[in-house]
Amino acid sequence: MRELYPWQQEVWQRLSGLRARLPHALLLKGAQGTGKFDLATNLAQSVLCEQPLADGMACDACPSCHWFRQESHPDFRLLQPEALAASDEATVGSGKKPARQITVDQVRALSDFSNLTSYRGGYRVVLVYPAEAMNTNAANALLKTLEEPTGKMLFILVTHKPQHLLPTILSRCHSIAVAMPSEQESLDWLKQQGIADSSAVLAQAGFAPLLAKQLAEQTDSFEEHELVLQALGRPEQMDECALAEQLKNKRVEPVKIIQWMQQWCYDLTSAKFAQKIRYHTEYNDYIYNLSGNAAALALLQLQKDLSVAKREAFHPLEPKLLFESLFSAYRQALRSNTGERA
Ligand SMILES: [Zn+2]
Repeated sequence: MRELYPWQQEVWQRLSGLRARLPHALLLKGAQGTGKFDLATNLAQSVLCEQPLADGMACDACPSCHWFRQESHPDFRLLQPEALAASDEATVGSGKKPARQITVDQVRALSDFSNLTSYRGGYRVVLVYPAEAMNTNAANALLKTLEEPTGKMLFILVTHKPQHLLPTILSRCHSIAVAMPSEQESLDWLKQQGIADSSAVLAQAGFAPLLAKQLAEQTDSFEEHELVLQALGRPEQMDECALAEQLKNKRVEPVKIIQWMQQWCYDLTSAKFAQKIRYHTEYNDYIYNLSGNAAALALLQLQKDLSVAKREAFHPLEPKLLFESLFSAYRQALRSNTGERA
């Protein structure tokens, strides 16, 4: 059984309340890194469980729960991008990049599943995570299945980006918003996980506790993150070529570096326009100084460039070149106000 996080008690009660008359399709939506997948997994296991507990959680002891834990339940399917499913070892050296989308073939494979009667005589459950990873063909194929409900079948779609789903899919789903925990709830939980002094890391994770935990546990990345922040704080001293080389050698995921830069630029922009800093309160002085010196348009352009780079960062041709060009764009943006009297 997965952990039911303290901030999910309320939404769990709502879900349990639906148990008497389950909709055909449920959509769990909310911010990334707050445990929606674990919530959905708990729901799936409990719907399949033969003796659920009074609070609606799975018993974790019946044959059904046993199969579920072994990831071999005949009445359960998990639809996720190959890239999420593949372990690192499986993909290294295989030469082929695992797909980052849920493909139409994966959805079509469900049709056999949905035509079978349930093995254990209860529900059949399909969990789609993250639902926005379905490409258009896959989404249309799923829509067909949703439009022809068969027997006792439950679809659980989990999404961080409901606006990326087809409206026709949205309209077929009973939608439930999974709330973000409060900052204090997250801090308490992180403390329970053995992560003390987690304010800074929680802020860096956009206040998503599970992301914060991941960040805190990636201690090597923590060093690299510091390195990047130090460099961003002193653009006039930055040697982008050397820095890019260093980061490449440390094999930091490009997408991570772009994320760090995005958060930093978010703070620069926010300091400039709203006199607020969200992610890097410990770099307060640097950020206010730098944002004062940068032209607003250049900062906005930089944010755009970073978003574009992030979309392409999963397969950069040459990470070192990518890093170099981003750092150099950053330095130029921060020089943009020279001679400008705004
Ligand atoms: Zn059970």
